[in-house]
Amino acid sequence: MGDRVYTKEEEDLEIQSLRRIISAYLNYPDAAEKDVRRYERSFKKLPPPHKALLSHLPLKFQRIRWCISMNTSFIMNMLQAFEPPFDMIEDIEPDHVHTTENTHEHSHSDISPIGERRNISISLGDSSDFPNKSHKLEAPSLDKEETHAECSLRSTMHRCAVQNCDDKLCNGDEKASCDWKCHASMFSVSLVDVDKVRCIIRNIVRDWAQEGQRERDECYKPILEEINRLFPDRTRGRPPSCLVPGAGLGRLALEISSLGFVSQGNEFSYYMMICSSFILNNTREANEWTIYPWIHSNCNSLSTDDQLRPVSFPDIHPASAGITEGFSMCGGDFVEVYNDRSQEGSWDAVVTCFFLDTAHNIVEYIEIIAKILKVGGVWINLGPLLYHFADSYGEDEMSIELSLEDVKKVAFYYGFELEVEKMIETTYTANTRSMMQTRYTAAYWTMKKKNHGSKAVHTDK
Ligand code: SAH
Repeated sequence: MGDRVYTKEEEDLEIQSLRRIISAYLNYPDAAEKDVRRYERSFKKLPPPHKALLSHLPLKFQRIRWCISMNTSFIMNMLQAFEPPFDMIEDIEPDHVHTTENTHEHSHSDISPIGERRNISISLGDSSDFPNKSHKLEAPSLDKEETHAECSLRSTMHRCAVQNCDDKLCNGDEKASCDWKCHASMFSVSLVDVDKVRCIIRNIVRDWAQEGQRERDECYKPILEEINRLFPDRTRGRPPSCLVPGAGLGRLALEISSLGFVSQGNEFSYYMMICSSFILNNTREANEWTIYPWIHSNCNSLSTDDQLRPVSFPDIHPASAGITEGFSMCGGDFVEVYNDRSQEGSWDAVVTCFFLDTAHNIVEYIEIIAKILKVGGVWINLGPLLYHFADSYGEDEMSIELSLEDVKKVAFYYGFELEVEKMIETTYTANTRSMMQTRYTAAYWTMKKKNHGSKAVHTDK
């Protein structure tokens, strides 16, 4: 793995995709401000007696604006720390304006940018296997001085984001590192991408806030307890290895690492990778950041204070979490990165949480999981089967939507044996105080790879 040389065309696609994602992040305050203006317009249309009755609402709108600025401040800090894996300043040309309005409520997996089709190169940790630039998870240097370039980048990005990039700010003496981020704000942003940024904010709560503890207890705790039970001798000798495909913001992979595994998260969304990299590598202390994750919807809210409540994160200091050496996050498409000879039989455990249904072809995912596990290795899965591509009707888009029964049949075919099976009630990035909660009855299993599968001929009844 890792020897593949990418064509210029592939790299260009990757750069375009990354620019689009940076643009979406930079566009966050503008998009949020548009919503507030919409609330204000509606308020203005009220008949005077109704307006009088609701005279406190303008103050709420102002408070939302303040919350938006706080969220923006976090986003800008995160972008400032991000080092793109490419030369981003080549051939900067803004897109055509997207008019796509096809934003939709979708599944837990609906945050994956379309443009990411291959192994991308961000990794946290010592992953020499990958052709990637690696960002080690290490205690950040607290006394790092802010350079001039960083300073100007921050202010420029703020101004660009707000003013849709006044070219005067970007030309001339500004450093190259500023330019591509600054120019990224010229790229138009679809509502789908606006939505993805908001999804990331909710994911922060799931993985890194105290408020997400209940969800983590429902989803991650059973997995952690199981992996702990299955590898009792791990402190002695070489620690077992565990792969977490679709690792999201990295909390589960980090917890597995802290338990004493050589843990690797794999994630193909730049939205996720930029954010997890920031939290894992740049956090100086627990609860360093405060965001307002729930401001973007007025629906199903119990009170203004509920809707505007602050959420601090990360609830732990990642660099002090007692991780095991070798913890890494590998950017790239699971199929492309791990369907590689060098990966065969190399993992003691694979953990998938809310991941399986992100597949175009779930059979391929299962086949690869079977291939990369050692004989005797374990696969722990938790999640629903809300197939991510089920309602995309593109001619070339495939989506194989199997029932749980069929998923298990496929797993048995590839040499797995069921050890534990149950259903777990849980939510995904839920606002705990909302009047509407989407609950999943997620399938949970532990399977063991008994053999290489080809010999495992199952006569299905
Ligand atoms: N496991 C995390 C995230 C689940 S959402 C959690 O429980 O919170 C599914 C994740 O899988 C998303 O972050 C998505 O970007 C990622 N993903 C989807 N398809 C992928 C692929 N082919 N390769 C790697 N990651 C993928």
